[in-house]
Amino acid sequence: MRSHLLNDMTAERYRRSVTEGVERVANRLATTRRPFTGVTPDELAPVVSAIDLDRPLGDASAALDELEDVYLRDAVYFHSPRYLAHLNCPVVIPAVLGEAVLSAVNSSLDTWDQSAGGTLIERRLIDWTAQRIGLGPAADGVFTSGGTQSNLQALLLARQEAKTTDLAKLRIFSSECSHFSVQKSATLLGLGPEAVVSIPVDRDKRMQTVALAAELERCRAEGLVPMAVVATAGTTDFGSIDPLPEIAELAGLYETWMHVDAAYGCGLLVSPARRHLLDGIEHADSVTVDYHKSFFQPVSSSAVLVRDAATLRHATYHADYLNPRPTVEVGAPPASGGLRGSIPNQVDKSLQTTRRFDALKLWMTLRVMGADGVGQLFDEVCDLTAAGWELLAADPRYDVVVRPQLSTLVYRYIPRSVTDPVLIDRANLHARKALFASGEAVVAGTKVGGRQYLKFTLLNPETTTEDIAAVLDLIAGHAEQFLGENLVHAS
Ligand SMILES: *Cc1c(COP(=O)(O)O)cnc(C)c1O
Repeated sequence: MRSHLLNDMTAERYRRSVTEGVERVANRLATTRRPFTGVTPDELAPVVSAIDLDRPLGDASAALDELEDVYLRDAVYFHSPRYLAHLNCPVVIPAVLGEAVLSAVNSSLDTWDQSAGGTLIERRLIDWTAQRIGLGPAADGVFTSGGTQSNLQALLLARQEAKTTDLAKLRIFSSECSHFSVQKSATLLGLGPEAVVSIPVDRDKRMQTVALAAELERCRAEGLVPMAVVATAGTTDFGSIDPLPEIAELAGLYETWMHVDAAYGCGLLVSPARRHLLDGIEHADSVTVDYHKSFFQPVSSSAVLVRDAATLRHATYHADYLNPRPTVEVGAPPASGGLRGSIPNQVDKSLQTTRRFDALKLWMTLRVMGADGVGQLFDEVCDLTAAGWELLAADPRYDVVVRPQLSTLVYRYIPRSVTDPVLIDRANLHARKALFASGEAVVAGTKVGGRQYLKFTLLNPETTTEDIAAVLDLIAGHAEQFLGENLVHAS
């Protein structure tokens, strides 16, 4: 069994099996445009259950053959131009290379003595990202598992920096379109059930700053304490970007922490054409970025950045076995001040202990493609989305919600002959399900004003306007078929 450990004797076999695995995926993508087979849990579960885990195959090729049946054939492929559903991206190849290397070395980024150069690479990328944001010389941050964790950590820091320890008094302000992890974080942080104040959005789904100002004022008048304002730079449903400069001004006025959730919109940091959409983000106290959304990185790859490195001390705990007190460096400025002879232990800044070297994927991506290369891909999908909006707006079969700033389109099928809103909801729901079952395309759904809508999240530069038009025809077909059957029954 030792022959399965990676060492100089087994490297060639490792190389072959990794290559074979990646090749199988690539071949699959080359031979079908479909994102999915339409398999159901009832069909697939018995196939997975039938595998006898106590009887190993002993051989990577045999295991890959078996994997075709239990996973590869029926997986949902984000690389397909007709996968238009959630905030998942096809991945760039340099990142896949980084993934293979980081798993093979298996560095853990908690302490220097488990990572060495990995720690320095992560710190460079944190500095690079902070600089792109414009956070200033004292900035720092750390890679995380995703936007949910980044938001939790940012709000933890905000709670510790708040002007009261009375948790029941703390309030977080975020738009009604902000991500649900804001509410989840508030609960995990022990805040009261009323802690998150939901601010209404305007027609373009951006936070109404007049309402924010009124809520901040009311908070103060009631003797409560504003803990944080969360601005979303790219809402999950609409890709809308809250007015960052105005929000920054209000956060300053009320002396509260400003967090920008740019989990989705972070790709704009490298966009040659659209960087200005993030103007004002430089005022943030903390920022969430998900490289695994708009930087075309494999899951997981995310970071939380902070304006003031010293605030990360709120995540610092010591263990004799890992990061004992004398060797740690707490809150020292990162690159600007150098390492100052101390041992850089990233665990001092993280909610995690053992932690993947996800930074390597972004590093390889930047070293091969460059920031502009990534940004151009994101610009392409934003351009495609603008074209998709034109299609939808001109199509009498559809109602489309907002002109997109990023790469989502929210719309619904509106039959000419039917006015019952409940039936229209059901027709849209049915169309989404039928499309998924057919495997021809995958789209998402959401609600707007209580009504059922459908959603495209366009993160694949290979998707074309023809793909969008074709999927809209498929949806219309499924919806019409449903209405045909149900109107017959009704009459
Ligand atoms: C996706 C998303 C998150 C959560 O990020 P995960 O990486 O899925 O944990 C948070 N905020 C916004 C705006 C998002 O779109």
